[in-house]
Amino acid sequence: MKTLTRKKRNYLPENLVVHGWQNIESFYQELQQRPIESKEAVLQWLADRSETDAVVDEEYRWRYIRQTCDTDNETFKDAYEDFIQTIMPNWMSIGNELNKKLATSAFVKDLDQERFFVYLRHLQAQLQLFREENIPLSQQVQLLSQEYGATIGAMTIEHEGKEFTLPQAGVFLQQQDRNLRKSIFEKVNNRRIQDKEKLNNLFDELLKIRHQMALNAGFTNYRDFMFAELGRFDYDVHACEQFHKAIKSEVIPLVNEIYAKRKQALQVEQLFPYDLEVDVANLPALQPFSTQDELIEKSVKCLTQVDDYFAECIAIMDNMHYLDLNSRKGKAPGGYNMSLPEIGVPFIFMNAAGTHRDLETMVHEAGHAVHSFLMRTLPYNFDQEISSEMAELASMSMELMTFDGLSAFYNDADKKRAIETHIEGIITMLPWIALIDKFQHWIYTNPNHTSTERENKWLELHKELSADIVDWNLYEDFRKILWHKQLHIFEVPFYYIEYGIAQLGAIAVWRNYKQNKAVAIDNYKNALQLGYTKSIPEMYKTAGIQFNFSREYVKELMDFMKNELSN
Ligand SMILES: [Zn+2]
Repeated sequence: MKTLTRKKRNYLPENLVVHGWQNIESFYQELQQRPIESKEAVLQWLADRSETDAVVDEEYRWRYIRQTCDTDNETFKDAYEDFIQTIMPNWMSIGNELNKKLATSAFVKDLDQERFFVYLRHLQAQLQLFREENIPLSQQVQLLSQEYGATIGAMTIEHEGKEFTLPQAGVFLQQQDRNLRKSIFEKVNNRRIQDKEKLNNLFDELLKIRHQMALNAGFTNYRDFMFAELGRFDYDVHACEQFHKAIKSEVIPLVNEIYAKRKQALQVEQLFPYDLEVDVANLPALQPFSTQDELIEKSVKCLTQVDDYFAECIAIMDNMHYLDLNSRKGKAPGGYNMSLPEIGVPFIFMNAAGTHRDLETMVHEAGHAVHSFLMRTLPYNFDQEISSEMAELASMSMELMTFDGLSAFYNDADKKRAIETHIEGIITMLPWIALIDKFQHWIYTNPNHTSTERENKWLELHKELSADIVDWNLYEDFRKILWHKQLHIFEVPFYYIEYGIAQLGAIAVWRNYKQNKAVAIDNYKNALQLGYTKSIPEMYKTAGIQFNFSREYVKELMDFMKNELSN
């Protein structure tokens, strides 16, 4: 059973554990006071700081993981909150001091400017953004965001005397019985409506604090602040608007086509929101696996068919118990791959209930995991702090490249069906991504809006950026709060269009893969291995694809997808 261990520490004691700030403070103080008087001293200082940051960050990440795996556990919750309240402010504050120290060092200019280009541009941005008075505000935001997870995680519905979490209830939307789907859809959304005010108020609070953070840092709005904060050096607001437009003109017509076929196949007068996931050929929902063990075993088999190395990554995580995949009450919603910077082996968290969607999530997270493994040997912690546009390229490309390997889960007919479902899912998802992004642009550039105005804006944008063939007339109240289910709006604002950018990239990777598998995989690995040591367009180029959101390019990719659908 292969497992991995962390590399030898060079600066911190091997047995050091971060229980509290007092365990680590003296090392940061030493870094702050240490004279840096040569290029070599800068490099040594960077290495020592990187090691220290990795250890603290890994502690933070474990505390996050534990409380998401068991939101009812008070000890885990306290440990996480304690990190945010006592360690985080000190860490951020000293981090800023260290950034200043480095930026003002006379020897930084002697560093290899190409090698450190990405790090140094990030450093400058962090210095420009940092405000002492934003530390307590970002603490508040993080704690409030947790309320979102707890609120959503606690939602259940009752069906035939049994209690179901919302992810579990979602499975019923694939059932053939239309009345059952309707009933579950209404129960789920009525349950969401119960917490409508709570989530609206929570969001109002978040909005107020976020806007203040932007003002504090010298920005006129939180959108522009976040573009800087997210390190969007390689594209701007205009590019996002170009993306929204390209999706509207090149993707939505295709979505309407897909749904029109569905409507015809289902032989229904109106296509309701609960008609979108059921199989149109009257087949039961795909059941790729039932237990966590089965999901892992089959995922490993599936990945082997793409590349042995990919499969090995998941096997190692399994051996190390770095996988928590099945849905349980008390788990936070969603799924993630959490990289752990010191050991260099990530952790995958999911709420799997046996659906095909869960399988898609699994291979998605496997793509992130492979990325973590491929970056393990990069020398500095910051080399591995990848941009989301690149991170999601890794995961979304993996979703598509593993199509071949789906034989591990399905017979030929089901495999074909799964691939079709997946391609349709990608196409129908793109407008939602544009919508979530465009909505947030509006929210944060109009920070004084009321919650009614926000609701109206959401409705307006939902009409603009969703397929008009879907009939929401009976469900206006549900439609108004659809955005509540999007975790990112609450917890990681503006982090969403990355999925769209990366999705376009992944389609292009897959197109390459279909032309020449070996070359495409090589390019993919080479790009991932770079971590974040090159600009995003350069890394996309290494992956063999373009960094482009133009209407023409989106059309080209959609034509390819349409062709794959008809095969
Ligand atoms: Zn992802």
